[in-house]
Formats: sequence, structure tokens, C-alpha cells
Amino acid sequence: MHLVAILFAILASQSDQKPEWCRDLPRPAYSKLERVTVADKWFEVYRIRPGLFAIYEPHQQEEIISYLIVGKKQALLFDTGMGISNIKKVVERLTTLPVSVMNSHTHNDHVSDNWRFSRIYGMDTAFTREHAKGTVAAAQEEIVPGAICGAPPAGFDPKTYSVKPFHITDWIHDGAKIDLGGRVLQVISTPGHTPDSISLWDAQNKLLFTGDMYYPGAIFLFRPETDLDAYEASIKKMSALGAVLLLPAHNVPVADPADLPRVLAAIKQARSGKMKPIKAEHWSEYKFDGFSFLLSK
Ligand SMILES: [Zn+2]
Repeated sequence: MHLVAILFAILASQSDQKPEWCRDLPRPAYSKLERVTVADKWFEVYRIRPGLFAIYEPHQQEEIISYLIVGKKQALLFDTGMGISNIKKVVERLTTLPVSVMNSHTHNDHVSDNWRFSRIYGMDTAFTREHAKGTVAAAQEEIVPGAICGAPPAGFDPKTYSVKPFHITDWIHDGAKIDLGGRVLQVISTPGHTPDSISLWDAQNKLLFTGDMYYPGAIFLFRPETDLDAYEASIKKMSALGAVLLLPAHNVPVADPADLPRVLAAIKQARSGKMKPIKAEHWSEYKFDGFSFLLSK
């Protein structure tokens, strides 16, 4: 074989391999969850509680999770995911009620299908207003080689992939309550990861949707919009709620509320300067049992 041909053969065999991040999927937590079949293979849907669905996108590195919370009169979609396939179609399979959108925060991986919906709640912050304008760059970074595991959905065009602008119809603040009919959700402002980060609190069922403030995995806290003092204060606030279940926005849709006091102690330790991080190009990683923090260097 000619040397160039050998090289091509090696490259071809490597491209057949799965990217490292998805080799060990599915994560163990999923085997205990009730799967709901949907037509679109891009998504996996799990029923976490009656009227509460996790909509997971396991074929892209973010492993983003959006949540559909269904009341008697309306439903709320908490985040809309990557926009690589059509989350609205999945939601319409799960409920016939009117669906509003609210975001855990407005980073691209949580808002990319917002544009498909007509009623969108948004936190009244400058950060939210800016991010509602959409972005091409942040979206394109999500589809670099190795970021997608397997094939993207039919009809997906990587060249035109972007976060389309979306229109916020209802501006909200800390403490806002959304009544879905027999189910009330409270907005809790929990800035830190971004200024517009919220947690959603279902007080009746003691469920806490944590967005990117906490998930089991590497938590991104190195961007300019991150405020670590605010992060600490928000984790403390979340920890005090007495949740029985956390529903995070990445990796797994169920996490133990006992993680929150550990996260609080860990962030203090990471910030103390007494711990040795693992340095990478864009961040320093501080590892703990079940999660890590990516802090700026
Ligand atoms: Zn984020």
C-alpha cells in the first residue's frame, strides 16, 4: 500500500470511532428511569414523575436536558436545547396543552429552539436581552469535529446552524410564580454561572430544577459572565430549600440534593487557593467526588 493510502486508511478507521466523551454512554442513572418512545432519534425522553418529562440530547457533547412540566391547564418547557433537531415536535407528542418556554439561563445550548415558540418568559436582565438576539459563533462551536456522536438528524445543515433570535413575551423577576393549573412553579434567581441563571422550584413536590448551577459533571465557571461570589450565595440559597430531587440541565436528569452542601464546601475550597487544579488551555479544573469546577486561570 502506498504510504498516503495507508495514512488515509488510518484516518478513515479513526473517524469510525466514537468520540471519547460518548464511549461510556448511556450513563448508569438512565437504566433506572422510565423511557418514553418518541419518533425523533435525536432525543431521548424520560418520565421522571407524572407530568414531568426530561428531554435529553445524548448525541451532542453538551448532553443537554430540557424539561417539560405539565399542569392541568398549560405546560412549561424549561429550556429548549440545542436546536439541532425540532424539540417542539417532541413536546407536541407529550402534551396537547399550550406550552410556554422559560430558560434556566440564556447560554446557547439552552435556548436554541426558543424561536419555535410564541410565549417565552425571560429574566429582566441585560444579559438575557443580549442573548435573545441569537448567535452564530457559539452554535458553530457545538458542532466542531468530535462534538456529535453518530450522525446528526436528517435535514440538519451544519453550515447554517445558529441560535436564531427569539422574542421574549413575558419579563420575569425573582419570586415569579407560574400556575400551570394544579401545579405552581416558582422562579428563584440564582445568579453565578450567568447573571440570568434561575432555578425553578416546585414547592409542592419539592423538586428543584438547577440549570447549569449544578449538575454532576464539569461545571463551567470560567467565562466573563460568571460571578463566583454570587455562585456561592446562590448554591447556599438552593441548598436551604429542602428539595427531595435535583433536576440538572446536563448529563443526568436526577441528582441528590445532598450534593448541594458538598458543592458549597467545594467551591469555597477551590477558591481558597489551597487546592492544586489541573490546568487546561482555557480553565483550571478542580475535581471533587461526582463533579468538578472549571475556573478561570
Ligand atoms: Zn450555561
